[in-house]
Amino acid sequence: MNIYEYGCITCQRLYDRLCDWNLYLLRGPIVQHKPPAIFIADSLGLDFLNSIATPVDTPVDWLDGGDGLLKWLAQAKLVPAAAIGELKARAMPGELDKVADQARALREWFRGFVRKHMGRPLTPKALRELGPLNRLLERDEAFSQITRLRHGTGDRLELRMMRRWRSPETLLLPIGESLAHFVCEEQFADVKACEGHSCTLIFVDRTRRRARRWCSMAICGNRAKQAAHRNRLKNRH
Ligand SMILES: [Zn+2]
Repeated sequence: MNIYEYGCITCQRLYDRLCDWNLYLLRGPIVQHKPPAIFIADSLGLDFLNSIATPVDTPVDWLDGGDGLLKWLAQAKLVPAAAIGELKARAMPGELDKVADQARALREWFRGFVRKHMGRPLTPKALRELGPLNRLLERDEAFSQITRLRHGTGDRLELRMMRRWRSPETLLLPIGESLAHFVCEEQFADVKACEGHSCTLIFVDRTRRRARRWCSMAICGNRAKQAAHRNRLKNRH
């Protein structure tokens, strides 16, 4: 890949994402094999925070190294497969692991920001805390291109945002962009932490009555239902 090859960075709203956690929970954990990363937040910025979690008993960090980071980025559809393959092939030993270290540091910094502000509207005053994210964003090498969009009713031209993937550090750029979208576009008042016991997952509540309580029914919702059922039985005797 040369610097003129790139991937599309638009159209990354992730409503169409399917989580195969149901399957994982049915089959049980596979030893030595990480389960698929969790995408339940209804916002990619928060799912980045959810890339470390304790879905069953043991904590899993999907960004625990260079390979993990690449897999998560592919699952999140943030980096095109061709760019991932090329960066992997060109990387020096340990280079991608170092980027994963940076990604984890970014994640924990952003977790502090979200936890501080979640549950109420974010005010412009928060800008002074966002320096680290703006520093990442200013390194971006995004550009636009006119491309042909294939469509059933007839092709048309479309202006698309693209990005050069020059070095392993560029892998952090689409993450930074999704965090920035989250900060500027989401309602912080609707950001909630799952009520599940010892669950650390965070999500945006988009239900009409703002009644969402769980990361997912498959993980914490069912556990809570079962616990409530056990309590009811106990109280009957
Ligand atoms: Zn949960």
